[in-house]
Amino acid sequence: MKYHLDTIPVWDAYHENSECPLCILEDKAEKSYVDSFLGGSVMEPDTRIEVNEKGFCPHHNKLLYKAQNRLGLALMTHTHTLETMKKLKHEINKLEKAAKNPEKASRHLMAKLSGGESSIEHAMREFSAWLNNHRNRCIICDRIEYSLNRYAYTIIHLWEHDQEFRKAMNQSKGFCFSHLPVVLNMAAERLSRSRQAELISELNKLLLDNMDRLEKELLWFTQKFDYKNQDKPWGNSRDALPRILQKLTGKYME
Ligand SMILES: [Zn+2]
Ligand SMILES: [Zn+2]
Repeated sequence: MKYHLDTIPVWDAYHENSECPLCILEDKAEKSYVDSFLGGSVMEPDTRIEVNEKGFCPHHNKLLYKAQNRLGLALMTHTHTLETMKKLKHEINKLEKAAKNPEKASRHLMAKLSGGESSIEHAMREFSAWLNNHRNRCIICDRIEYSLNRYAYTIIHLWEHDQEFRKAMNQSKGFCFSHLPVVLNMAAERLSRSRQAELISELNKLLLDNMDRLEKELLWFTQKFDYKNQDKPWGNSRDALPRILQKLTGKYME
């Protein structure tokens, strides 16, 4: 996919000096998408079609629901429900056919006897997969993924062409476990092999140095609970727990 550079938000995120600049950018992108879907502006027809088709995942449904624009969410959910019901009827027809078709069922009988599944079991499994897939589809998740790739593209470009940025990156706290793969995938796609090797050695150092730092900060956090240490200074450890959790999973603990 083709991406455009977006340097200002990337630099802003680096200036915040957090455990991962992409966590900051993901958080901002998520907030702005949630606002835009609930905003009063008329949605583009293409976006409307996409919302009807995909809907939102449980996490984003919850954020939209908590945003208190119940009418906006109800209208989007209604047209999405109409679209879903068409597909649901199609899926249910398949399931009923499998239950009523003895010829097909008998063909599956041998499979059943030899430990395989019958046609109705197969249809039930497919129907369950369809139901489960429903919760995995989300237009906001898709938009966030696109934004993160665009920011990773910008980071890789700046790292390669802007010495000042490269220095800032090497003095930063690196990336979390969830966002480092986005950067690595983009590097694999965009950089020459020799450049990839350079980047990997810089990223590895960043990751190990910062994991060491966080481990020590977390250890001191636990030791501060010992009464012998209660008067000693916290250092950087007061918020070590939410920061290591962010580093390991890519989500702010708010
Ligand atoms: Zn992150
Ligand atoms: Zn989502």
